[in-house]
Amino acid sequence: MPLLPLRVLLDYAREKQFGIAAFNVNNMEQIQAILEAANEIMAPVIIQASRGARKYTNDVFLRHLMLAAAELYPNIPMVLHQDHGNSPEVCISAIRQGFTSVMMDGSLEDDGKTPSSYEYNVAVTRYIVDVAHTVGVSVEGELGTIGSLEHMAAGEQEEGHGAVGKLTLTQLLTDPDQAVDFVKRTGVDALAVAIGTSHGAYKFSKQPTSDVLVIDRILEIHKRIPDCHLVMHGSSSVPQDLLMTINRHGGALRQAWGVPITEIQRAIRAGVRKINVDTDNRLAMTAAIRTYFQEHPEEYDPRSYLQEARNAIRRLCRERMEQFGQTGHAVGIPRITCEEMAKRYANGVYGENAKPQKIRG
Ligand SMILES: [Zn+2]
Repeated sequence: MPLLPLRVLLDYAREKQFGIAAFNVNNMEQIQAILEAANEIMAPVIIQASRGARKYTNDVFLRHLMLAAAELYPNIPMVLHQDHGNSPEVCISAIRQGFTSVMMDGSLEDDGKTPSSYEYNVAVTRYIVDVAHTVGVSVEGELGTIGSLEHMAAGEQEEGHGAVGKLTLTQLLTDPDQAVDFVKRTGVDALAVAIGTSHGAYKFSKQPTSDVLVIDRILEIHKRIPDCHLVMHGSSSVPQDLLMTINRHGGALRQAWGVPITEIQRAIRAGVRKINVDTDNRLAMTAAIRTYFQEHPEEYDPRSYLQEARNAIRRLCRERMEQFGQTGHAVGIPRITCEEMAKRYANGVYGENAKPQKIRG
């Protein structure tokens, strides 16, 4: 099956009331593992690549790996999404490479570090919506700045992307009124909201409580913009057993806490449709490789330990997909391609604001 636009999967997820994990990838084993997991339980999947991942993998390799995935798993609806596009150029180059969804993160300026003005965010996101919707590609925007309410800062950089310095409460918690205005003016299909999650392993210094992980804010926003799909970034759960396994086998990770699965499930019930998971797969892969190296010091065939890593990711991805409610939903998702989607946007099926605007002379 050709890669599908993000909106097709998320519209279906809203109808059936479940969430979809968006897994970050950098190499072949990760893509294989995610598709194996999806195929085991017939789940739709979102695969996403950051700017750093595109650089590491090389766009041509990534494109062909995804085409291979689509050829090998014709029954699994899948999306290729640009994570945290920092500029129009990055989003447009992703569209040219066959991505079916892009995130235009205008919450930061194009250096990927400086929090931007609201008007800049609206203008740059609107521009990408006009370009992307013309060819049926979905757009995720970001309002508020993803970061920790415990430290009032963005936390770990996500491959060079993330606000630098202290942030205010207004930046760290998306304002529902502003969300209404933002969606009306930009026409985005999905919106990343700031509710206290942050990127990397060290999200919270202890099990998070409702003052630093504000799930209730999702409900408030969802009620105001029910047609725009909400996205939770930085939503790895950082399983304690993986941290212990890594540290027992020569690792030196500090104590870390992620977003508990029960909180993500609560967020899904409150209206979240896309949940970004990256750190958990990194931890699973590292734990598997460290364990294997320590238990088999004589081994030097990369396939032996990469296979262990691939199995570990497969198990983790399957667990997350099951926890988010994706099981069995590969079957019902309508096969709407980007071409068909472009016609729908142009005909106003998704409302006037999602229609690509014509250039005015
Ligand atoms: Zn993110």
